[in-house]
Amino acid sequence: MIPRTLFTAEHETFRDSVRRFMEAEVKPHDERWQEQGYVDKDVWRKAGEHGFLCCSMPEEYGGAGADKLYSVVLMEEQARANNSSLGWGLHSEIVAPYLYHYGAAVLKKKYLPKMASGEMIGAIAMSEPGAGSDLQSVKTTAIRNGGRYLVNGSKTFITNGWNADLVIVVAKTDPAKGAKGTSLVVVDSSMKGFSKGKRLKKMGLKGQDTAELFFDNVEVPAENLLGEENNGFIYLMQELPWERMQIAIGAVAKAEAAISWTVDYVRERKVFGKPLASFQNTRFKLAELATEAQVARVFVDRCIELLLEKKLDTATASMAKYWTSDLENRIIDECLQLHGGYGYMWEFPIARAYVDARVARIYGGTNEIMKEVISRSMGLGGKDG
Ligand SMILES: Cc1cc2nc3c(=O)[nH]c(=O)nc-3n(C[C@H](O)[C@H](O)[C@H](O)COP(=O)(O)OP(=O)(O)OC[C@H]3O[C@@H](n4cnc5c(N)ncnc54)[C@H](O)[C@@H]3O)c2cc1C
Repeated sequence: MIPRTLFTAEHETFRDSVRRFMEAEVKPHDERWQEQGYVDKDVWRKAGEHGFLCCSMPEEYGGAGADKLYSVVLMEEQARANNSSLGWGLHSEIVAPYLYHYGAAVLKKKYLPKMASGEMIGAIAMSEPGAGSDLQSVKTTAIRNGGRYLVNGSKTFITNGWNADLVIVVAKTDPAKGAKGTSLVVVDSSMKGFSKGKRLKKMGLKGQDTAELFFDNVEVPAENLLGEENNGFIYLMQELPWERMQIAIGAVAKAEAAISWTVDYVRERKVFGKPLASFQNTRFKLAELATEAQVARVFVDRCIELLLEKKLDTATASMAKYWTSDLENRIIDECLQLHGGYGYMWEFPIARAYVDARVARIYGGTNEIMKEVISRSMGLGGKDG
C-alpha cells in the first residue's frame, strides 16, 4: 500500500482520541439517535470539551487554531465509525468558516466561541423547495429596512436544521439582480418569525436532523450580514473546494471501512464448507475494490495537500467529489453483495453504509453539476455555461 504522508505524530494522537470518543460517547447512543431522528445536544457539548468542534478556528474564537488536517482526521474517524448522525463537519468546516471569513468582528465574537464549545449548533440554508442545483432561483428574500433585514421565505433539506441555533441563510437582497443580488445573512433561532418545520424522514442519515426552515418577517440586525450585500454568490463559490473535498474525504474513508468489514466477514463466513474468502470471485472482487480505493486515496490526499497550499481549484475538487462518491457507492454495493442476505440486515454496518452513501452523489452539488463545472473548466461551456 502507498503510505500516507499527510499526517504527523500529533495528528495520529488526535486520531486516537477521536476514535476513543466515537467508541465511548457516540456508538452507545447511535441506534437511539437514528430512531429519534436527531442526536442529543449533549454530545455536541462533550465534543466541544474535547476540542473536536471548530478546531481550525483561531483560539481567540474558541478554536484550537489547528491546521485543516485535524478536521480531516475527524471526518475520517466519523466515517470509520460508520456514523452519519453527527453534523459536525458542516458545523465546524462549512458554517464556522463563513462566519470567520466574512462575518463582522462582533458577529464572530458572539457566535464562534459558542459554536466551538457546542453550545450553539450551526446550519447553512441554501436549498429551497424550488431551488437546489439552481441556486440562482432562490426565492427567500432579505430586504434592508433601516438597520435591519426583513427575511421571508422557506428552506428545505437543511442539515442540523432541527437542532440549529444559528443558520446562514442564502437570500436575495436585490431580487431583480438574480445571482448578483444574493447575500448571506445569519439568523439566530431566538429571532421572532423563525420556525422549524418537521424533521424529514430519509432513506439514510437517519440520525441527522435534516429539516425544513421557515422565515416569516424575521427581523435580522444589519450586522448579521456576512461580507458585503449582494456578494453572497461570490462567497459561496470561494468556499466550494473545501466543501467538496469534505465529501470526498468521507467517501474514501467510508469505502475503505466497508472493504475492511467485508474482508473480516468473508474470512468468517463459510459457504459450501469453505470460507467465503477462498473463492476466487471473492478474492478478485476485493482485490479490485482495494485497488480502486487506493487510487482514490492517493488522489484525495494529493487534493488535500493542494488545498492546504491554497492551490486546489474548484474543478479538481469537483472531480474528487463526483468520482469518490460514485466509487464509494459502487464499493459499498459490491461489499454488501459479498455479505449475501446478512448485508441487507440493519445490524450489519454495511447495510447502514449502503443507504447513507447514496446522498453523497446528490448533496454538496449533485454529481451532474460537478461534471458541468469540470467540463466548463475544459472550455466546454454548455448553453448556460
Ligand atoms: C440529506 C440531505 C442533506 C442536505 N443538506 C443541505 C444543507 O445543509 N443545506 C442546503 O442548502 N441544502 C442541503 N441539501 C440539499 C442539496 O444540496 C440538494 O438536494 C442538491 O443540491 C440538489 O438539488 P435538488 O434536490 O433541488 O435537485 P435538482 O436541482 O432538482 O436536481 C434534480 C436532478 O437534475 C439534475 N440537474 C440539475 N441541474 C442540472 C444541469 N444543469 N445539468 C444536468 N443535470 C442537472 C441533478 O443532477 C439531479 O439529478 C441536502 C440534501 C439532502 C438530501
